[in-house]
Amino acid sequence: MCKFIQRQYSCRHLRFIAASWCVDYTVTHIRCPPNVAHFESVEDICGDCKLKMAPPAPWEHMIKRKNKQEGSSSSVEKD
Ligand SMILES: [Zn+2]
Ligand SMILES: [Zn+2]
Repeated sequence: MCKFIQRQYSCRHLRFIAASWCVDYTVTHIRCPPNVAHFESVEDICGDCKLKMAPPAPWEHMIKRKNKQEGSSSSVEKD
């Protein structure tokens, strides 16, 4: 049986991380049912939540600037 680590993130999501593959897996490449050898909890959040909390993509910023350019005509008021 392959050994897995059950990791609990601060966002309360659980992940099974393969710690070591058994000989069966290296031959058949069929995953065994998760055999949790170790449990750990981390302060970090999982990858999915990181994606949700990630800052907006650079191109989103460019879209916003495009909108600003439309309103840039108001700068004519300076004259
Ligand atoms: Zn295995
Ligand atoms: Zn999460």
